[in-house]
Amino acid sequence: MTDLAQWLTDNEDTLIQEAVAELSQNEAQKSQVVATVIEFFDSLKESVKTQNLDPLSSVLEHWISSSSAPMVGELTSLVPVLTRIKQVNSEQIQRLCPPEEAVEFLIALDAIYNPAITYLSRLEVDTLMADMRRELYEAQKQLERLDKSKTDFVAVAAHELRTPITLVEGYTNMLATSVKGVREDPNGRMLLEGIDSGVKRLREIIRDMIDVSLISLDMIQLHLQPTWLHQLLDALENSMRNPLNERQVELLIERSTIPRQPTYGDPERLLDVLQKIVSNAIKYTPDGGKIIIAARELTGFTDVMVIDNGIGISANDLPHIFTMFSSVGDSSLHSSSKTKFRGGGPGLGLFISKGILEAHGGNIWAESPGHDEKLCPGSTFHIMVPMRSAPQDDKIMAVFDRNS
Ligand code: ADP
Repeated sequence: MTDLAQWLTDNEDTLIQEAVAELSQNEAQKSQVVATVIEFFDSLKESVKTQNLDPLSSVLEHWISSSSAPMVGELTSLVPVLTRIKQVNSEQIQRLCPPEEAVEFLIALDAIYNPAITYLSRLEVDTLMADMRRELYEAQKQLERLDKSKTDFVAVAAHELRTPITLVEGYTNMLATSVKGVREDPNGRMLLEGIDSGVKRLREIIRDMIDVSLISLDMIQLHLQPTWLHQLLDALENSMRNPLNERQVELLIERSTIPRQPTYGDPERLLDVLQKIVSNAIKYTPDGGKIIIAARELTGFTDVMVIDNGIGISANDLPHIFTMFSSVGDSSLHSSSKTKFRGGGPGLGLFISKGILEAHGGNIWAESPGHDEKLCPGSTFHIMVPMRSAPQDDKIMAVFDRNS
């Protein structure tokens, strides 16, 4: 073993020259490579002499940490570099030593180079993993920042919009009361009603924006009380009469399937969800279509199904429709109307619906055979309402959690 160390020392100049020539692509590179190769052979001799990999390992660690290794062409890994140095070394031994000595030296060289190559690959994998973890972490932080600025923007915009809308409302009231005869005049009345419905729609949009912020911050508050689903569906039917007539869409509620017993929920919020889902069903169903609402009882839940025979949702879009600003499809079809056919809105309705149901301990999901505006395969929204005979008491639940 010591003989090999001596042989390496005796032939050092040739070894270095050939390794440098092998690893350099041009003259300019040679001067950079020389220092690294000299350092490498010094540590190789040391490792051979002491039969200890440590000196070589520390050079390899230095290659990785300081990117000081000789790079060959476009190689991104250092393992082939080390393999080439080993190859140059072996070829020299075979060329310069008598066969018997050559065999002995090659075996001794393998005993150092092979674990060094394994160690270098492990170092590279570890570094790659660490880099990937860092990049992933950075990307996640960036996404969180983006998400936060989206929520902040929505909250600020909602707040800023409240003042002008209150002004419009105030001046409209003043107009209606202070200008004589404006209410009695058919044109005047039509204009006042137009402003009124515009203001109402704006208020709804602002309310949605505030809800989005509350849901994103996990701060939505529910006013839980005994809630009867069939009563909610009556209220829904009444509130949807105009849009249904406008679009000549039939709404059929299969009342026999709706549970009669109450649950503890926030009726206003649950009605809000039903209205959003049915408004969408109207929006994405052609004139003359049909919407069916039916329920089925599952363990602990009632699954309220809203089934339409509209344009359906593609498999690609299904996983995304419940995220904020998820409006899919053609943005040129965007409409501020709540019922216009395919009139995409701001993409907040399903996000809010999911937030409200999750705050109840429920959920919402959708299924559809696909999107086709001619064949209209339809969509089904499953609104999972938890059925509770008593209000969920967070304090009592916390005691159970602690003791479980
Ligand atoms: P939007 O304001 O765009 O209606 P929503 O959050 O209510 O936002 O819905 C998100 C997207 O889900 C819609 O843009 C639409 O593409 C799709 N979608 C929702 N309900 C239906 C439905 N019943 N049929 C087909 N597509 C629907």
